[in-house]
This record gives sequence, C-alpha cells and structure tokens, in this order.
Amino acid sequence: MTVVGVIVAAGQGSRFGGETPKQYLALAGKPVLRHAVEALQATRSLAAIRVVIDPAQRAAYEAAVGDLGLLEPVAGGSSRQESVKRGLESVIPLAPAHVLIHDGARPFADPALIGRVLAALDRHDGAVPTVPVSDALKRVEGEQVTAAVARAGLHRAQTPQGFRFRAILAAHRALDPAAGVEDDAEVARQAGLAVAAVAGAEENLKITTAGDLARAERLLGAAGEVRTGTGFDVHRFGPGRALKLGGIEIPFERGLVGHSDADVALHALVDALLGAIAAGDIGHHFPPSDPRWRGADSGQFVLHAAKLVAARGARVAHVDLTIICEAPKVAPHRAAMAARIAALLGIAIDRVSVKATTTEGLGFTGRREGIAAQAVATIMVPG
Ligand code: MG
Repeated sequence: MTVVGVIVAAGQGSRFGGETPKQYLALAGKPVLRHAVEALQATRSLAAIRVVIDPAQRAAYEAAVGDLGLLEPVAGGSSRQESVKRGLESVIPLAPAHVLIHDGARPFADPALIGRVLAALDRHDGAVPTVPVSDALKRVEGEQVTAAVARAGLHRAQTPQGFRFRAILAAHRALDPAAGVEDDAEVARQAGLAVAAVAGAEENLKITTAGDLARAERLLGAAGEVRTGTGFDVHRFGPGRALKLGGIEIPFERGLVGHSDADVALHALVDALLGAIAAGDIGHHFPPSDPRWRGADSGQFVLHAAKLVAARGARVAHVDLTIICEAPKVAPHRAAMAARIAALLGIAIDRVSVKATTTEGLGFTGRREGIAAQAVATIMVPG
C-alpha cells in the first residue's frame, strides 16, 4: 500500500512582520518546514514526500530540506486549496493508495497521531486529527462579546489529514474554487466522502504567530536533552600577581601564575561549558602561545564559551564550581564569585554554585603550592 505525503508550504505570509514565511523560520535552530518533513519521515510508512512551495522561496526550500531526499517541489497556486490540488496532481504517477496532506508550518505531528490517521483509512475515505474545544466559546465583535457559542461537539482540526488518494483527488477537481473551504477534510466532505475524526494532540500546533513560535520553542526545550560537561584546572602560586579567583580579585599575599590572569576557577568553568557542547578545551580556543591572551581577564573566556553554548540553541541550566586550596579562605567571597559568574553567563544567581574545600594538608594544594578547581556545567539542548 503506497502512501505519499503532500506538504503545503507555499504561503508567503508571515504575521510576524518579517520577510521570511513562517515555514522557513528557525525553530530550535532548524527551519519549521524541516521539522514538519522529518515528522512525516519518522513514520517510515511514506513512500515519498512532495512539498508545494512558492518558487520565489526555492533557495529557502533547498536550505531547509534540500538534503532530505524529497521529490522535486512543485509550485503552489493562489489559494491553499489550489496548492493542495497541484500537489495531488503531481503525485499521480506514483499511484498512491493513500495521501497525507500536511501543513508545512506544523512541526510536531508525532508518529502515533499519524498512525491513527492512516489506520482510519481502512474504514473511511478520509481521516482528520482533531482536538475537542475545552474553552468556552464567545463571538466577539470589536471589543464586545456578543454571543456565547455552544462548544458541545466542537473540535479543532489539525493535519496531517489522510485520504484515499483517488477520492480526494476527485474531490479537489470537483470543488468550486469560490467555495472558500479551509481544509481538505471539508473538501472531502463537500464531495460526499466519509471523513473520520481521530485523536489529535495539543502539541501538534501550527506556527501562525510569534507566540506560537515561542510556544514551540518551549515544547522543544521541555523535550530536549540535558547535557553535562566537567572541567578541571590547576595553577601554581607565584609572586607579583594579584589573585583572581572566580572572576573577582581577592586580597592575598600571592597570586596565581599563568599566561592569562590565571583564574583557575573560571578556567575549570570554561572547560565544563566547552565539554557540555563537545567543543574542545580552553587551550584550543585560547592558546597560551597567543599574545592576545597575555594577562587577559578570564571572564572573556567564559563569555566566549557561553556564546558557543547559545549558538547551539542551548542554555546553561546550572554550574557547580569547587575550589580546592588551603588558603585563601574562599567562603567570604563565594557570593561575589557566584554573582560575577551569573552575570557572565546571563543566568540567575541560584543557578550558580560555588564551593570550596581543602585537601587536609595533603598534596600540592595541601603544601600551598597552588590552587585547583573543578566544575560541572549542565546545559539544556533543545530536541
Ligand atoms: Mg588554566
């Protein structure tokens, strides 16, 4: 049984005020359309996917999904229904039994939902995922509520909508272009086809407004991955240097020796951040051989690592720093260090932990030859 997907992505509109149509906007670092295509591909039951596009957006299309092995895109028409019809006509040579018609701006159709739609086609000409309306419905004119609308039996329709191919093709061909229908389930219904409702999903939202995009980002964030990185560093004490530790200067009779300001705590933190995104280590990004970093404020290394984390679409959830030395006493400076690190990372201070310990007089820290620091960074990477 051949199933093909037709994804409608010909809309030029963006209600966000920008130039880029919403299906090409980045969602967690990936165009919305790519999410939509990958969602259909994840079901593995589709033989082929055709996307209907605005030819003026061809470059954006190629950048978004050009590498996903799709059929050559076809040009859309002046309305959504015309675009769907062109998509359907274009897949006739594949002789599909069933077709899934999907919105290019709907990124989260999950395999279970798609499975329900396809399963319903055993018994019906068409199937549409729906979600019952749970809010009270009002008719609003201007700022005035003018009527209540009974919500009993009302559902919101989503995509992908599935159909027996020959039936939906004939329905589209027979449709009056002036009919003003809003989706393919209605095209089917007006042609007298039997359309079943199957359970949709609240998460299967359509990106229409900037608020939708933000909600989609949050959904992905919640479903994303937690990653951790660790860092460790040691610097020896030496004369003639101010002691920089945890991003602040601490009054002490000796400082730490190093090419930069030798802030051992921030160096461990940078390595933890880089480790969480598998982006090498501090020596790779800031080679000691580079004269630019002589005496450098290590805060700028933290800023750089934070920028790399952000570039992955990730955010720092928490950092935990342990400073290991006999002296100076760290406790009186912990709050200032945490505040400085929180500011560098752009996160709340309750996401920054600064701890200290001694090694009970043992080893190089016990002999007061230097300071060691270790750090753990936890980041949230969107799915
Ligand atoms: Mg170091």
